[in-house]
This record gives sequence, C-alpha cells and structure tokens, in this order.
Amino acid sequence: MKRYSALSLIEQGLRGQKGWPPAWRAATPKPRYDVVIIGGGGHGLATAYYLAKNHRVTNVAVLERGWIGGGNSGRNTTIIRSNYYYPQSIALFELALTLYERLSLDLNFNIMFSQRGLVVAGNSRHDMETIAKLIGAMQLLGVDVEELSVEEVRKAVPALDCSPNARYPVWGGFRQRRAGTARHDAVVWGYARAADALGVEIIENCEATGFDRSPTGAIKAVETSHGRIACDKAAIVVAGHSSVLAAAAGFRLPVTSYALQAFVSEPVKPVLDVVCWTLATGVYVSQSDKGGLVFGGGLDLYPSYAQRGNLPIAQSVVGALAEQFPSFGRIRLLRQWAGIVDVVHDSSPIIDETPLPGLYMNCGWGTGGFKAIPAGGYLLAHHIATGRSHDIGAPFSLNRFRTGALIDEAAGAGIAH
Ligand SMILES: Cc1cc2nc3c(=O)[nH]c(=O)nc-3n(C[C@H](O)[C@H](O)[C@H](O)COP(=O)(O)OP(=O)(O)OC[C@H]3O[C@@H](n4cnc5c(N)ncnc54)[C@H](O)[C@@H]3O)c2cc1C
Repeated sequence: MKRYSALSLIEQGLRGQKGWPPAWRAATPKPRYDVVIIGGGGHGLATAYYLAKNHRVTNVAVLERGWIGGGNSGRNTTIIRSNYYYPQSIALFELALTLYERLSLDLNFNIMFSQRGLVVAGNSRHDMETIAKLIGAMQLLGVDVEELSVEEVRKAVPALDCSPNARYPVWGGFRQRRAGTARHDAVVWGYARAADALGVEIIENCEATGFDRSPTGAIKAVETSHGRIACDKAAIVVAGHSSVLAAAAGFRLPVTSYALQAFVSEPVKPVLDVVCWTLATGVYVSQSDKGGLVFGGGLDLYPSYAQRGNLPIAQSVVGALAEQFPSFGRIRLLRQWAGIVDVVHDSSPIIDETPLPGLYMNCGWGTGGFKAIPAGGYLLAHHIATGRSHDIGAPFSLNRFRTGALIDEAAGAGIAH
C-alpha cells in the first residue's frame, strides 16, 4: 500500500496525479477462506480490518452484494456521539469514540472526523428530567457531558428559536464536546484500503444467498451469486437485511427493518458549527463541510425494505426543522434519501455467535450504528478470532432475549432507535 502523506501528495502533484495505485484490489473469490464476512458496510470492513490487524487472521473475504458503502454506511447523517444511559452502552460507544479519535492515523486515511460537539435541546419539563438523568449516568462513567441553560443553548446554536413563544420552547439542554461528524465514505474506504493492505479480499457484486452446514450443524460454506465459498467461520454484517440472511441460515432474529430517511439542503455559508438535536421532534441537523444542512428525524412508521424517501416524512421533518430554525425555512432542499435500518426490540445491537456454530453476527444498530463502526468491528473480530466475546461486547448477546437481560436504550436514553 502506498502511504498517504504530504510528501506523496507533492510527488503525485508533480506527476499530474497519474501514479496513485487503486486504494484496494478488485478481488475474485477463492474457493476457500478462513473467515467470510458478508456485508461490505463499515461494520463488515472494520471486522475484517481488526481480524487482520489485531488477530493476524488475514485469509478473509468481505462479500458485498453491491458496492462497498452502498448500504447505510454511505447513507447516514454521520453523527458520532456516546451519550447513552446504561453502563454497557456507554462502554460500547466510548470504545467507538476513542477508536474514532485516532482512526485517521490508524488507517492512514483522513476520515475528516470533526469533533465540533453535539448540543441536545430539551423542550419540556419532562425532557429536562430525562436530560438530568442522562447527564448523571454519563458523568458517573466519565463521559464528557455538561448541562446547558437556555442562554447557553442559544449561544451555542444561534439559529435555533429559543424565544419564549417559539413553537417548541427550549428549556435547556446538554452538550457533548467530543461528539461530532466524520465523512462516511472515508470511513468505509479507509477501512477497505487498510484491510486490503493486510491481505483481506474485498469482493463486490457478490451476494450471499445461503449457508452450507456440516452434519454437526457447523458452518462449512457460504452460497453466493459467484458460487460456493468454503470457510471455517462466517459473519453476517448486513444491517437491514440481517433477518433475511438469518432466515437463510434457519433461525429468527428479534430484528425489524424500517426505512430511515435523511435530507440535505443546498450549500450555504457557515450557519451552524455544532450538531444540534431537539427532543420535542427528534429532528437533528449539522452543516457539512460543503455547506449543506444535513438533517433527519425518526424512522418511517411501518416496517419496509423500500429504500426511498416519501412525502409524509419530508413534510414532518422539514416542517419541524423550519419551525425550530425559522431562518432555515428559506433554504432550498437538495436531496432526500433512505436506508434500511435494523431495529431491535431493546434498541441495542447484537454482537454474537448465532445458533449456527461458526456463524457470527453484528446487527441491530438501528439508526445509530455509524458512530459504532470501529467498536462493532473490533468486538466482532475479537469474538471470531478468540471464540469468546470481549467483556464490552458480552452484554450484547443474542441470548439476552432469552434471559431478559435487555439493555433498553429507548427507555434509558429516550431515543426510539
Ligand atoms: C438516513 C440514515 C441516517 C443515519 N444517521 C446516522 C448517524 O447520524 N449516526 C449514526 O451513528 N448512525 C446513523 N445511521 C445508522 C448507520 O448508518 C448504520 O447503523 C450503519 O451504517 C450500519 O453499518 P453496517 O456496516 O452494519 O451496515 P451497511 O452499511 O448497511 O452495510 C451492510 C452491507 O451489506 C450488504 N448486503 C446486504 N445483504 C447482503 C447479502 N446477502 N450478501 C452480500 N452483501 C449484502 C449491503 O449491500 C450493505 O452494503 C443512519 C442510517 C440512515 C439510513
């Protein structure tokens, strides 16, 4: 792999940018791998990278039915934060945030991580009670979070209507300074390039369609659109399509797939230098480096695999944004899109071996798995390589739906995701 550096930029500049090698090889499948990862999103590629880097397992293929990052990892609104309620979740998302903080150096790829801070505004007494509870839980575990008065919210987000007669009056809020955004494609490409350099093969346009088991029930091979690929271990890392592959493997998952939509406006001059989220409507917004306002709200109301936007969500989300940020009402909408997200009943992910021995999975991130990509990959790689779940990953087992040890972040953090 050619290292990216100031020197290589100058060198290539002098050569008319003609000498850059492809960032990763276009591989064709071999008959057999030690590990086959299904899903070339951020989590799948990060799993392959940490398998190779941390555990020296390099005979690995990542199968992607489309192009890498064409799923939710390239469709999200790129917010990274760790403000959760339960200690298990805080440990998980803090691991991710800590890994993100050094990811550009680790991957030798600029992921454009901008720790501009997150400001969450509460719009009622009840919101403020939830915020007080959250701040207490987070501060207890050392997360950088601070309570904000109405005046402090107004100062941090001047475009937000904090007047007493606003449609959604602001009662106060909190801020996480280490939160921010990163460039989603860069995270995917950075992991792909670094994994490829360690020997991982990335196979695009290759769909997994089924599994072949040994007489003991253990995984023997993955059936794909390119034929049968034998393996010792495999992992399903396909977000919104997890239930489809679980059904192909012969088990059911407590996962429901919904479309989640997002929007971007035309580019405008800098108007917002934090990520802002309001609890009354669940609408959140940040400004991209190009100047577009990137924003979204809640899930579509019904389960679906239809990966497209629709008018009712546009009306409710754009309407709520314009009511809360009156000056944004004059900006033109550029684009609206959707991704299919995997929602679990307790709004927490699943990182575990499945009932099929040798077949692992990482799913259930719902609307919030971009921020978790480094941790999801790190923990699943640990489980696959060692056969044991990592202490931080252990609470996120599939078995919790049998034992009842749920981690209900929808109730805890007040976010239905
Ligand atoms: C609109 C939107 C906004 C979001 N905003 C945020 C945010 O601000 N912050 C945040 O933290 N999270 C956010 N998320 C959630 C986040 O994007 C996801 O949780 C995360 O990207 C999931 O990553 P992944 O690698 O598991 O899945 P994906 O990136 O979806 O990758 C899964 C891949 O598997 C492939 N695949 C599926 N079936 C097969 C098969 N049979 N064979 C081979 N390949 C297959 C798909 O093509 C896909 O590329 C958002 C999601 C959406 C849709």
